[in-house]
Amino acid sequence: MRTSVLTLAMLALPLTAAADDKQDFSKVQIKATKVAGQIYVIEDVVPEFSGGNVGVSAGPDGILLIDDKFAAIAPKLEAALKTVSDKPVKFVINTHYHGDHSDGNSVLGPKSTIIASDNTRKRMMTPQGKEPPPPAAALPVLTFEHKLSVHFNGEEIRATHYPSGHTDTDVIVVFPKSNVVHMGDDFFNGMYPFIDLDGGGSVKGLIANLVQVIPQIPAGAKIIPGHGPIATIKELRDYLAMLQGTTAIVEAGIKARKTADQLKKEKALARYDAWGKGFLKPDDFIDQLYKELSKH
Ligand SMILES: [Zn+2]
Repeated sequence: MRTSVLTLAMLALPLTAAADDKQDFSKVQIKATKVAGQIYVIEDVVPEFSGGNVGVSAGPDGILLIDDKFAAIAPKLEAALKTVSDKPVKFVINTHYHGDHSDGNSVLGPKSTIIASDNTRKRMMTPQGKEPPPPAAALPVLTFEHKLSVHFNGEEIRATHYPSGHTDTDVIVVFPKSNVVHMGDDFFNGMYPFIDLDGGGSVKGLIANLVQVIPQIPAGAKIIPGHGPIATIKELRDYLAMLQGTTAIVEAGIKARKTADQLKKEKALARYDAWGKGFLKPDDFIDQLYKELSKH
């Protein structure tokens, strides 16, 4: 997986066409792979950053997508969808406002109905520096504060908004009949997560969300993370334990009046080194936790 600073910055990008100008997506190759029931995931054929994991419900009513990557990848996304269904995309649920999950709205918005949390729409409409707000057709049309169900392809697809985790716009989607859960970026499988503190995110909130969600996930469910490979409840539990463990270590360091640099020098998170090989290196993750936890 690419781990450049540019890629990391892109995780936090709002929904803007600018995201497309900054990276060459020509090498990206994606394909649809079955997860369970009538749910597919769009996977990278070569390890090239193409945005968040897209969940696909494909059945008699058509296609419902969870997230839609970058607009520049939309033709490849639509080609991958053709391999599982020749029916149109009727709905897109955005798990949150970041461009690597929602920039494709500018292509799919005019052809389908986009659904997201109220906060996702608000954050998309908030000017980000010099970037203009996205075109109206790229904005969610149906928004909700707590819960929304889409009765589609013979199952009640349930979207729930969680107040503050990766961002304050996060939605987790459950497909009860197919027994699949799309966690959005509340789950980076096997790696330290980026937490968007400026976008209302918080590691404390993320932990609270996971503590609430995990007991509700049925046995044997397949879990689609926002980034990383398809998981089961075991990997999600490991992820929660890592967040709790690293947070406790950094909090103890702050209590002992240590600086972030001291914690890095001590390799305070050494026990969790395996998680520091993705977007965030161990020192980046210490900085991120320290920034939030030193405020309390
Ligand atoms: Zn994100």
